[in-house]
Amino acid sequence: MALLETENLVKEFGGLVATDDVNLTVEEDERVSIIGPNGAGKSTLINLITRRLDPTSGDIRFKGESIVNRKPHEVVQMGVSKSFQTASIFSNLTVRENAEIAALAAEHGSFGFKFLEHRDSLTDVHEVARDTLDAVGLLSQADRKASELPYGDKRRLEIGIALAAEPDLLLMDEPTAGMSPEETEATVDLVEEVKQELGLTFVLIEHDMEIVFSISDRIVVLNRGRVIAEGTPDEIRGNPEVQEAYLGG
Ligand code: ADP
Ligand code: MG
Repeated sequence: MALLETENLVKEFGGLVATDDVNLTVEEDERVSIIGPNGAGKSTLINLITRRLDPTSGDIRFKGESIVNRKPHEVVQMGVSKSFQTASIFSNLTVRENAEIAALAAEHGSFGFKFLEHRDSLTDVHEVARDTLDAVGLLSQADRKASELPYGDKRRLEIGIALAAEPDLLLMDEPTAGMSPEETEATVDLVEEVKQELGLTFVLIEHDMEIVFSISDRIVVLNRGRVIAEGTPDEIRGNPEVQEAYLGG
């Protein structure tokens, strides 16, 4: 059974078909990148999976269960986490508190506060938060206010927040957008490290082809909402249709 599966997924905005009959499969431990020109429907696809958007038709299954009637926070609890949401950091809290909230929210639901009835599990939350900060290299900054972190560390914290939820599937939408070449490299290294350490399954949207080719097991190419090709980095590199539609001939 695939970890994630979309079946004949369609999303229309008025007359525009942003997602056109997409069948996407992600196996456990697989690293999948989605590429395609601006407006191809990459973000829409991710937003359908996180349930920020309702599909027009089709199905999305996670761990074999349909999630089209689930709420966004329920999908997070099931194990889907999206990194690099600008709003994910609480600026006035410390780095540690940010990681702890993320761990708690994933375990008990964002707005539930049911965790007060489960005080035993708070130990786990502290542990998960500490391990996560260690994994993203922020343990030494744990007591700093998030707003005081330099830009690169803020991006690390965003990854940490996503990882503290201990996701089975991590979704990333253009994680290196707005980064300097150094920060981009550090982020790619970090994702590689986490991938080695935790055996992460992820879906990455990324415009930098060097990153895509180096980090992916499989690449899915979208154009005008449709999957026009998919395969290994080598297969995609040599695909004439992809070159014409996307890589510029
Ligand atoms: P990508 O991430 O590949 O650049 P998007 O998924 O953001 O593409 O957008 C796909 C298409 O859907 C674009 O034509 C975009 O203008 C349109 N679109 C995206 N979100 C909305 C929305 N909320 N309302 C109307 N049109 C949208
Ligand atoms: Mg986008």
